[in-house]
Amino acid sequence: MGLDMGKLEGRTALITGGGRGIGRAIALRFAAEGAHIALNYASNRAAAEETAEEVRSLGSKCEIYQADVSDQQACQAMCESAIQAFGQIDILINNAGIGSSAVNRPTIADATMDQWQLLLGANLWGPIYMCKALVPHLRQADRSDVIMISSIAAQNMGPNMGLYSVGKAGMEALAHTLAKEEKSNGMRVNIIAPGLVDTDMGRKLVSLLPGPDDMRELDANMPFGFVCTPADIAANVTHLCSEDGRYVTNQRITISGN
Ligand code: NAP
Repeated sequence: MGLDMGKLEGRTALITGGGRGIGRAIALRFAAEGAHIALNYASNRAAAEETAEEVRSLGSKCEIYQADVSDQQACQAMCESAIQAFGQIDILINNAGIGSSAVNRPTIADATMDQWQLLLGANLWGPIYMCKALVPHLRQADRSDVIMISSIAAQNMGPNMGLYSVGKAGMEALAHTLAKEEKSNGMRVNIIAPGLVDTDMGRKLVSLLPGPDDMRELDANMPFGFVCTPADIAANVTHLCSEDGRYVTNQRITISGN
């Protein structure tokens, strides 16, 4: 491999929720490292198209796929289309998610069943459906990677975060089990657990909590003097999926500055 080659040359990644935020940063970093991208979005087509254009401008192939990951048939259809378009997918990034702020942070007892369904649909059933649809295909590659974008909420289990924590804890259980089951098929499965990240979801959370609403006003009080950026998450996902990460599986990496 020449020194000028990217760390993910020859790889193709399917990224859920790739149009905005952390997913977008992963798509751009992956493309900069030579990977092709199947980019999923739920409803914000304009953001997905814009990210796809940026990916292509970096020299990578990119197709966008509308699919609500809480819909099993939509996940199945997306994976089939992406496999057809790219020939082989060998990285799955389960990134799409919905924060507890999207439903106004209800307590366990006060949450409605619709609120549970919304959060568990995206945060837990989504990764389950995506694994069901794509793992049999991923097994065909000599090496494949699955990354779960979880959250420190899966360990903190804080009040008013239950709907989110339950989904993320379930997603982490899925990852640890999958890592053991698929090791003999060359699959590496790892979890990234961010703290607060500067995205639409992060900004929404900050706006609902006491204190400043502006991320830049928060910077000084954060570890190392700044709020974590999507690019910080993308860099670590890239490392895990690259040759440098080939001996790492079944791990959970917290990226919170703590
Ligand atoms: P974001 O800015 O709100 O973006 C969320 C992305 O997920 C969007 O691309 C959205 O698609 C997609 N999405 C949401 N529901 C979906 C569904 N049902 N089906 C398909 N796509 C769906 O969020 P983010 O901060 O980048 O979060 C990315 C991941 O990091 C999430 O899993 C989140 O839980 C996790 N995380 C975030 C933070 C934080 O502080 N930001 C901290 C810890 C963990 P559209 O663009 O089409 O709406």
